[in-house]
Amino acid sequence: MSSSPPMDRPAPSRPTRPSRLVSVRLTAWYFGLFSLSLIVLFGFVYWSVDTQSRKDNAELLHSKVKEFADTYKDQGIVEIRRDASQKRSDEFLIRVADAQNHTLFVSLPYADPAGPDALHALETRLILPSEKLFSVNIGKWGAFEFANTRLKNGSQLQIGRSAQKRRVMLQRFVESCAAVAIPVLLIALAGGAIMADRALRPLRNLTATVQNIVATGKLDARISPDNTAGELRDLVVSFDRMLEKIDSLVIGMRGVLDNVAHDLRTPITRLRGVAELALRNPADPCVAREALADCVEESERVITMLNTLMDISEVETGAMKLNLRRVDVSELARQLTDFYAEVADDRGLKISLTTDKNCDTIADGNRLRQAVANLLDNAVKYTPEGGNVDVAVKRNASQILVTVRDTGIGIPADDLPRIWERLFRGDKSRSQRGLGLGLSLVQAIAQAHKGECRVQSTPAHGSEFTLRIPA
Ligand code: ADP
Repeated sequence: MSSSPPMDRPAPSRPTRPSRLVSVRLTAWYFGLFSLSLIVLFGFVYWSVDTQSRKDNAELLHSKVKEFADTYKDQGIVEIRRDASQKRSDEFLIRVADAQNHTLFVSLPYADPAGPDALHALETRLILPSEKLFSVNIGKWGAFEFANTRLKNGSQLQIGRSAQKRRVMLQRFVESCAAVAIPVLLIALAGGAIMADRALRPLRNLTATVQNIVATGKLDARISPDNTAGELRDLVVSFDRMLEKIDSLVIGMRGVLDNVAHDLRTPITRLRGVAELALRNPADPCVAREALADCVEESERVITMLNTLMDISEVETGAMKLNLRRVDVSELARQLTDFYAEVADDRGLKISLTTDKNCDTIADGNRLRQAVANLLDNAVKYTPEGGNVDVAVKRNASQILVTVRDTGIGIPADDLPRIWERLFRGDKSRSQRGLGLGLSLVQAIAQAHKGECRVQSTPAHGSEFTLRIPA
């Protein structure tokens, strides 16, 4: 009993958990941008409200200053004092100061005193009349905004109003914004995380599928494109298609390998049998010569098979180099028909040829000859005695058509899609010589010329193969 050493295979890698880094980053970006937008929005509203309320305050104070200045101009400080006590309101602080900023008169807005040194700030700060408001802290009453003006005799009139109300309003605005922003940001964070997770789910499925394929070596896994849209759906669908293609290619390759192994075993076993027979009769030179002749024949068969397989692979991988020249296809068909006429005659078949004029095209003459020869060979091979094989070469607007029609055994409908596969042979054809590579090569040569070969066949009535190549 013999045993073969175990083959070194890479250990299957275990699937790792798909990373969520991109989801987390996307969520963080989304959340960051959303927060920034919210801050900009609230900041803008805050700025607008603040600016507008300042403006309103300034307008009000300036109009008051003008009103009292007019009163002073007409009737002096006594009238201001009277006016201020008559119109005394809780809102305004009215002060008249001499040129050295000593208080001549002051009317306070609140009954509750601001504190002993409340007006000290106003007295110590010499504020020149200006268009702008200025702000002074008046003891426990807090910040006041003032407008002022110079009076006729050099003294100044100052009218102030508490800024507290405005500040409280802005404070409330900030608190309301915060109260709205916190739940909105939490919703945005959760929504962002869910969206990123959902958006990237197809990618995670894809990664899991690839890892699964790498781990198990099975190519039949697919990703479901359900609940996926747009670019990711395209990616998933394309990936599935790619897997299908690779899967069918691998299955095809395995099939071809199995068939090649099977088809090589027969001639090689025969080779060994013949050689063993010759070795058992070393004294008989006739046996040895016959054995050698058989060996050459079997080797030839193996070489033809391998060459044809390589030709087909070359076309499939795009590596086949065509020696393109002008070829008269009618003439090519005539030569081949003449060549097969003798074989056809031996088998009791009639062979005929009809051709159109001007059936020239640019092609690889040898390859084209190989293709048409294979079609003719099959037609002659699979047509019983008394049958006909008709070859026709035609030209249409864009193509040259070579049709090989026979009245032979035909091809069962089930076999029709398979006859182009490498090493496929129909059941009824096994009695004939052949490798099951002829039609694969014909199709490969047609495709290398950017053409195709098609078949129509009725079992027991015959087949019609049409090779089309661009004119
Ligand atoms: P081979 O002829 O060596 O078996 P081919 O690739 O040329 O291989 O053909 C594949 C199969 O297609 C054949 O085994 C046969 O069953 C079928 N076939 C091809 N040509 C014909 C034909 N003209 N008539 C009937 N069957 C055919």
